Amino acid sequence: MQNHRIKKMFVYIFLLAFFTVLGVNYLKERGQYHTLQQKTVEDPEFRRDFFSDSMRENRQLLSDECKTFLENVEKDVNYHPIPESIVDKSLKISYIDGWMVERNYKGKRGHEGTDVMANVDKRGIYPVLSMTDGVITNLGWLEKGGYRVGITSNSGIYYYYAHLDSYANITEGQNIKAGELLGYMGDSGYGPEGTKGQFAVHLHVGIYTVRDGQEISVNPYHVLRFLENRKLKYEFSQ
Ligand SMILES: [Zn+2]
Repeated sequence: MQNHRIKKMFVYIFLLAFFTVLGVNYLKERGQYHTLQQKTVEDPEFRRDFFSDSMRENRQLLSDECKTFLENVEKDVNYHPIPESIVDKSLKISYIDGWMVERNYKGKRGHEGTDVMANVDKRGIYPVLSMTDGVITNLGWLEKGGYRVGITSNSGIYYYYAHLDSYANITEGQNIKAGELLGYMGDSGYGPEGTKGQFAVHLHVGIYTVRDGQEISVNPYHVLRFLENRKLKYEFSQ
């Protein structure tokens, strides 16, 4: 009889543990579901984690607005903005997730983009390509961005490339295809037109959605990582 009682107790303990785990998981998922459902494109968490693997895998949990934006970027982006050199293997690039890291030129602000650094710190060598199809909606000098290119895709998303050394043969209003040459990587900006050399040679990449006429930036880091195995091969050397 003693043995039987112990067995029964084990069954109860097992059942209790089983339903506790089930219940906790259910509540957890429900909580996650609701927080993701309520996300708007303005949410800091959404902007920071934009295009991360976990966000892309759990897209069914996102609000319609966030999900549409994510899927439009997925459709838009085709090529990494910096191609691989087939003649000079030392011309590599590197970048880290520097989302919202502090910037101090003309007032404190958070960094709204990713800086793709040139391993060989020389301006005018690395080609800069469009990641997407679209229309060139902005071209020319910005004090903070230097020589920049702004491309609006068909879905209305704005892709921003800054600090170029020089432009390819492109004009404002022109249609552009993914993989087309925009110009060359440089170190322009942080001063009046033509200022160069205020920082290391790099490409600043930004991605913006427009909501009620307001530009909202998201973190391009995970998009660039996604494009790592979509690099075109170009012939460029020092
Ligand atoms: Zn930057």
